[in-house]
Amino acid sequence: MIRTIVTFPESILKKVAKPVEEVTSEIKTLLTDMAETMYVGEGVGLAAPQVGVSLRVITIDVGKNGPGLLKMVNPEIVEREGEVQWEEGCLSVPEFRIKMKRAEKIKVEYLDHSGKKCALECEGLLAVAVQHEIDHLDGKLIIDCASRLKQDLYFRKVEKMKKEITF
Ligand code: ZN
Repeated sequence: MIRTIVTFPESILKKVAKPVEEVTSEIKTLLTDMAETMYVGEGVGLAAPQVGVSLRVITIDVGKNGPGLLKMVNPEIVEREGEVQWEEGCLSVPEFRIKMKRAEKIKVEYLDHSGKKCALECEGLLAVAVQHEIDHLDGKLIIDCASRLKQDLYFRKVEKMKKEITF
């Protein structure tokens, strides 16, 4: 089931998401729904707060150069190496892009959709995507890294976009 994507400045996006205690059928359904929502939105990743659920759950698929669909519960970066600059966008911050500094290589530990403990070493786009989605779990958005001026401009743009919806 496709879920509605929550966008800036909704307050749930600012909240630190709670760890999942057990990978139940509800969590599995959430993961399936999030993957579907991510593909429809043409994003490379999605975090549960973006569909209004404040839990530490993410989905990622960076396309043909990646390992396919990844479903991660309670992901945690345990190693980081190097630095890379990447221009990022976000499904929750439409029509906004910013260059972000990220670790070039990371190791992430997580539970998969069956509750099994997994570890993944990755770099490039995949590493950037994991870091972006984990930021969501910590209540951080790419807009938070922009200058005050850019944030104000974006806020005004969002207000204007709201008014333009007339149905
Ligand atoms: Zn995002």
